[in-house]
Amino acid sequence: MIFGHDTESALQAAVALTNSARGSDTLTTVRELRAWYIEHGYTGRRDGDAAELASLRALRPVLRELLTADREHAASLVNTMLAEARALPQLVRHDDQDWHLHAVSADAPLATRVIVETAMAMTDVVRVDESSRLFLCADQGCEGIVLDLTRNRSRRYCSTTCANRNAVAAYRARLGARQADGP
Ligand SMILES: [Zn+2]
Ligand SMILES: [Zn+2]
Repeated sequence: MIFGHDTESALQAAVALTNSARGSDTLTTVRELRAWYIEHGYTGRRDGDAAELASLRALRPVLRELLTADREHAASLVNTMLAEARALPQLVRHDDQDWHLHAVSADAPLATRVIVETAMAMTDVVRVDESSRLFLCADQGCEGIVLDLTRNRSRRYCSTTCANRNAVAAYRARLGARQADGP
């Protein structure tokens, strides 16, 4: 593991949320938001209404800027975000989760908690100087963010869709080259 478990899951949640905006938007209903919330292990307040959905949708460009920022810029964004949310780190233990950090209360609006969780995760990324774990998808024309948590830094694409599309394109290119070489 590159970071702690809570840091990695907060980053994965933020990347998934941000990437939902690219291509055909996959965060357009309260139901899709609920699926994201459950998949990424978010707990605490969830209003499940249109206003909450709108606030999470509006968060995507903000998270995108943070996740793709260089180290200097990320540091200043994190400080601003934590100050604006009046973050106060506290060790908590709830449900089946052992001691971990929360920096805003569980009944703060979901958008506030997502921004604070992501900013807290980025404090780790900045401190251990691992900003290069976050980058744009190698697929031409895809603006998705990749979070590479592999030991040997082997990820290049944001999704299996992008990875497969490029594997097929590379295969065709090889095939084409071989035919051109032929007799
Ligand atoms: Zn928690
Ligand atoms: Zn991609």
